[in-house]
Amino acid sequence: MSIGIDIIRGQAIQSIGSADHLIGRLAIMTDSRRPHRNSLFVPLIGDHFNGHQFINKAIENGAAAALWMEREPLPQDLPASFPLFLVHDTLKALQNMAKGYLNQVQPKVIAVTGSNGKTTTKDMLYSILRGAFRTFKTQGNLNNHIGVPLTILAMPEDTEVLVLEMGMNHFGELTFLSQIAKPNVALITNIGESHIEYLGSRAGIAKAKLEIVNGLKKHGTLILDGDEPLLAPVQTNAFQIVRCGYGDHNNWHIEDVEESPTGMRFSLRGQKHPFDLPVLGKHNVKNAALSFAAARVIGTDVDTIRHGLAHLQLTHLRFERLNGLNGSLLINDCYNANPTSMKASLETLKNMSGFDRRVAVLGDMYELGKNEKVMHKGVAAELTPPLTHVVTIGDKGAWIAEGLHEQSEDPAVEVRAYKTKEEALPYLQSLLDAKTVMLFKASRLMALEQLSSHLQAEE
Ligand code: ATP
Ligand code: MG
Repeated sequence: MSIGIDIIRGQAIQSIGSADHLIGRLAIMTDSRRPHRNSLFVPLIGDHFNGHQFINKAIENGAAAALWMEREPLPQDLPASFPLFLVHDTLKALQNMAKGYLNQVQPKVIAVTGSNGKTTTKDMLYSILRGAFRTFKTQGNLNNHIGVPLTILAMPEDTEVLVLEMGMNHFGELTFLSQIAKPNVALITNIGESHIEYLGSRAGIAKAKLEIVNGLKKHGTLILDGDEPLLAPVQTNAFQIVRCGYGDHNNWHIEDVEESPTGMRFSLRGQKHPFDLPVLGKHNVKNAALSFAAARVIGTDVDTIRHGLAHLQLTHLRFERLNGLNGSLLINDCYNANPTSMKASLETLKNMSGFDRRVAVLGDMYELGKNEKVMHKGVAAELTPPLTHVVTIGDKGAWIAEGLHEQSEDPAVEVRAYKTKEEALPYLQSLLDAKTVMLFKASRLMALEQLSSHLQAEE
């Protein structure tokens, strides 16, 4: 296997073995600050840092060998016996190692992309598939040209199914990731507005997402949100397409959706028994239907799917329910936001029963490009009863409130705009009682979870 390694330096390499031998046996360390015994340090060069400068820290923290870019000077004080693999480009080498290791392990690969719901769907798939296969998934959100190779290299040697989250901001990125991972199943959760500044339009986003099929294995399957008009025209003989959604035309047609305080129940046409999901929102039902479709393609039986969905645990900050002060309910959905995900969240909040006060705390959404103001204002259309209060945070968030005032001089919901989280806190606190549900939603940088942590009931 070629991993782009040209020269091996150092004597200790003998005791570690050949390069091929290393892969899959040594954990990869890219952050020298994170201790990892017996790892291979891969120094990457970013806009603001050069990993090569931290080689001594990496050794101190457990690196047993390292890749090294040829053109980087060798530090004087590096122990002579420390094995270095000289490569032309450490990032390329990392990506090539991932390809090589994947080829060695040969799991079935499911690649998940989409503007919203990637992590959620990945977590749903993992919850299902672990009941039937030795399954490994992307940890957290490691979904780019570095995260995908790192995920692949972290998978155990006996992995049967690998679920990979794939993100992108530009054309070409998903082609690249898909060609590394060579998925058996590619899945597109939805088309939203994220990264529209780089992709021009929603149609551009759809085109960029569809790049995920560029590395799809022969006889592979594409699973997609069948309710998205931009994905409707996709037709091909090159692979199978499975559509999921609420529309009648879908291969897996969602029906009979019911909501309870703790989750959703839904049916898929053609399936005898309903499915339960311990998370709220019709968007999550869609994510579950997509996961069902992918799991079926991989050969999972329906009971295992039903069990996996019912026992789902989502990654932190995605519609996470917390006990708030005075018996209230707080919902942290502040991992990230864009107009589509904000609207999905608001719809879920409006559908929650048993509350007299439904409060939406909404903050700035980033990376929306030149139409950002219009897109923030557009959220106002969703801010209708049974919502009772809207509290915006930040300068861009304020456009949401502005949008509401433009729609009507006297909005049907109580609106307040604050510049900072700190300024909003006393007002938010005054709204909390046993009949209040309060949702927090904004882009990651806003860190709105800091608000809910102040408003949480003592354990
Ligand atoms: P990122 O690009 O930040 O990695 P992601 O695609 O992984 O995001 P998730 O973290 O799963 O997305 O979900 C983020 C938010 O998107 C959720 O909290 C929810 O509000 C919303 N969301 C999830 N699924 C959908 C969907 N199918 N359609 C619309 N919105 C969704
Ligand atoms: Mg994600």
